[in-house]
Order: sequence, then C-alpha cells, then structure tokens
Amino acid sequence: MEERCDVVVIGAGIAGVETARNIRAAGCSVIVLEADRRVGGRLLTRRLTDGTSFDLGGQWIGTPAEMPRVHRLVHEFGLTLFEQVDEARLDMTAQPLERMDRLTQAEWAWFKAKLDSLADTIDVANPSRSPNAVKLDSISVEEWKRRNLDSPYLRHIFDQVVRTEYTVEPKDFSFLHFLSTVKTNGGLEAMFNSSHSFRLVEGFETLVRLMADELGDAVRLGCQVYDIEHDQQGVRVVADGINVHGRQVVLAIPPNQVARIDFAPMLPRRRMWLVQRMEMGSVIKCFALYDKPFWRSRSMTVMDPDELIIDHVLDATSHDGRHPALVAFIGGSDAVYWSDQGPELRKQAVLENLARVFGEEALYPSTYFDHDWQTEPFIGGGYNCYAPPGVMTAGYESIDEPIGRIHFAGTETAQYFEGYIEGALTSADRAAREVVAALRQEEGTGLQ
Ligand SMILES: Cc1cc2nc3c(=O)[nH]c(=O)nc-3n(C[C@H](O)[C@H](O)[C@H](O)COP(=O)(O)OP(=O)(O)OC[C@H]3O[C@@H](n4cnc5c(N)ncnc54)[C@H](O)[C@@H]3O)c2cc1C
Repeated sequence: MEERCDVVVIGAGIAGVETARNIRAAGCSVIVLEADRRVGGRLLTRRLTDGTSFDLGGQWIGTPAEMPRVHRLVHEFGLTLFEQVDEARLDMTAQPLERMDRLTQAEWAWFKAKLDSLADTIDVANPSRSPNAVKLDSISVEEWKRRNLDSPYLRHIFDQVVRTEYTVEPKDFSFLHFLSTVKTNGGLEAMFNSSHSFRLVEGFETLVRLMADELGDAVRLGCQVYDIEHDQQGVRVVADGINVHGRQVVLAIPPNQVARIDFAPMLPRRRMWLVQRMEMGSVIKCFALYDKPFWRSRSMTVMDPDELIIDHVLDATSHDGRHPALVAFIGGSDAVYWSDQGPELRKQAVLENLARVFGEEALYPSTYFDHDWQTEPFIGGGYNCYAPPGVMTAGYESIDEPIGRIHFAGTETAQYFEGYIEGALTSADRAAREVVAALRQEEGTGLQ
C-alpha cells in the first residue's frame, strides 16, 4: 500500500505521538508508523482485573515547576496524579550511609561535593565545549570513582546509585555524559529526589493512548520501518505492509533503533557512528503485591549492596491503598544475567532479596510480575541510551540536528530531562517546530 502525507513520524512512544499532535495542530497532515502492536513505547501499564494500574516503564514525574509539559498533558486529558508515599525508609543507599562511621560519611560528603562542583562546570547545551571535556569524556564513571573514592564500601554504594539511576555499569558510562545529566537534574541529591514525586492513577500508557486516539487512523500499528529514501523531492518510508511518501520525516525512536534502519543515501558517517555507539541500559522492573504494607511498620535490614541483585526498592502501593506493593529494579549486568535465567528463577531471587531486606513476609506476595525491557524488540532495554567513553566529544551534540528532510525526536535528543518523560515531550515540541518551519519555508519558495 502506498500513501502520502506532509510528515511521517516513526515511533508512537510519547515523543512520537506528541510530535504528530503538534504537527497536525499546525495544519499539516501526518502518519505515525509504530512497529509494536500498541502505542506507548517505554510507557507500559499493567492493569489488574479490578482496574488498578501499575507502570512497568516510566512511573514517576516531578513537580509542575520541574516538569510542566507532562503536567499540562495529564491535566488536558483529565487524568489524576497522586503523591508518592514517603520512600525514605526504603532508600537502600540512605540507610547504609547513616550507619557509617564519621570518617566514611565525611568521605562520601566530600565525594558528592566534588562531583557536584565538576557537574557545575558542564555546558549542558554543548558538553564537548565544557572545560576539560575531552579528558572527562575519555574516562568512564568507574575510573573517576576509583581515583576519588577509597572506601570499598562507598564504591559499592556508588555503583548501586549509578545502576539505579542509569541501569548501566559505571565502567561502560562516559564520565562527561554522567556529569551532564547530573547537572541537568540539579545535582546528585536532587536527582535522587526530584523525579520521584507523583504517579498517575490511570498509568502513563493510558495518557499516550488518549493522545494517540486524537490522531485516529493516522497512527498505524505493527508497521516496523526498515528503509528511508530521501532526496530533494521528499522522503519514502518503507515499513511492514505500507510505504509512505512524505515531505519530511521525524524519527521518534531511540538512537540504538535508528542504527537499525537503512537510509538511502546513507546518513553522514559521523551520525551513523554516533547512533551505532549509543547503547541502551539494561533493566528489569519487578512488582510484588501484598495484603498488607508490612514494610511501613518495621525498619529494613541493612544489606551490603553487593549481596543483592536488586538495586533499588520503593513503595509502589496503589493510590487508594487497596494494593500494597513494592517495586524493585534489577539494573546493569545483573539485569543481563537475570534476563537469561528466565522468569521463574528471577521471581524467586527477587522475592528472596526482598525477604532479606524486609523480612520473611516478603516471600509470599499475592501477585508478582516483572518486565524485562531487554526483550522489547523495538527498544532493546531501558531506561535510556547512554554514551560510552569517547562518544560525547565526537559528535554527540548533533544527535538532534536534522539531516535534510530527516528530523530526530525522542527523550535521548532532549537537552533537559534527557531520559525522562518530560525530556521526550520537550524533544517533541522542538522537532515539530523544526518540521513545520521546514514545510513553511518550502511553501514560501514554491519547492513542494
Ligand atoms: C523501566 C523504566 C522505568 C522508567 N522510569 C521513568 C520514570 O519514573 N520517570 C520518567 O520520567 N521516565 C522514566 N523512564 C523513561 C521514560 O519511560 C522514557 O524516557 C520515555 O517513555 C521515552 O519516550 P520516547 O517516546 O522518547 O521513546 P519510546 O517510548 O522508546 O518510543 C519509541 C517507539 O518507537 C518504536 N520503534 C522503534 N523502532 C521502530 C521502527 N523501526 N519502526 C517503527 N517504530 C519503531 C518503539 O516500538 C516505541 O514504541 C523509564 C523507562 C523504563 C524502561
């Protein structure tokens, strides 16, 4: 089947759908091609039989001041936010830190201050122009940690922090990229707290579905895009069961998926090099539902992070308290290992971990489910793509730059809140503005 429109958007995650809504609002025609059989991408909601929802992907957002776009959309579609239960009691890093001797606490405080002051020097719009950028990009987070933290215990804690926040091993992650995200989040401490304030009663996939419903049959599911031909006349996008001719195309898919598409002519070598090197993190998100929130009334047993496969546990109880729940994350190389072990062994290991921290009751949930993001064929992991050493100073800033008629959206292309839902939405606004301007310019020059 051959079709025509002004703009083809690839990917119906929240970035793609919002890009398409903006383009349509500007009076241009749009078709969205989504490889999966559902919209939402990294926003995926599991619903219990009584309608209660749990987010297997993106789940928390910050305050309206921090994340205005996502709050605006939640309001526009009449959905309901609720505040996250105080999670401090379950913070796996805060507890062990409190029990440390003064010297170790002082070392941790010094380390964090040094990290924050280095992050402060980063030019987040152009990280490669920051002072000492090449040096900071040539080393991994691991290398910097080894130079600046002596305590083996603190090293473990820090690894756990990195896995929790980025789902990546410190040895694989560019120190410059790490610093740049620390700065955009307002420092290390703010990063842990700010994005964990509100959850959505209906689940975030519901938000994307409502947004996509507005686009009606412009959203085509089960249409994986393989090839993009582009020239002076326009673009031809080849997908499962459909070819679409457009004047512009927006790729709202993660960089690791851009690398899987054949472009004719090929993208500039430097851009291909970049997307081929951006790697997706590894994460499995696990929910255990119980009859009572027994963990709220007792203190957790402090464990050495090395003894656990879960990096982080939070209270994930439903908004009405009807389903007390814990959510745990397995990230980095543990996620790769436990992906291969299969769901039954993994469930057992996660529950045993929870029992070691919260007591034996944790072994007996009424319901358990998890989602291994590494098995998602069109995403390949989570939370996001990250830059290994050497990539940030070799063209990373061009990740959002259009190439002729090809434009790029998606959370990885955002300058602020890169990796978050809010970042996906800022990228959508930017990409839609860019495309509409290109269309208007062409109309003005009579080149259509
Ligand atoms: C476990 C987990 C927890 C998270 N927690 C949070 C959180 O608490 N707060 C927060 O703000 N963020 C969180 N995130 C991140 C957040 O979910 C993402 O930043 C956001 O959803 C990304 O949206 P996107 O539209 O940029 O990309 P995606 O959601 O990845 O959308 C891309 C879409 O493109 C499709 N696609 C890929 N290739 C092709 C192709 N060739 N042809 C057609 N379609 C294609 C995919 O199927 C997908 O639907 C989390 C992510 C995960 C995985």
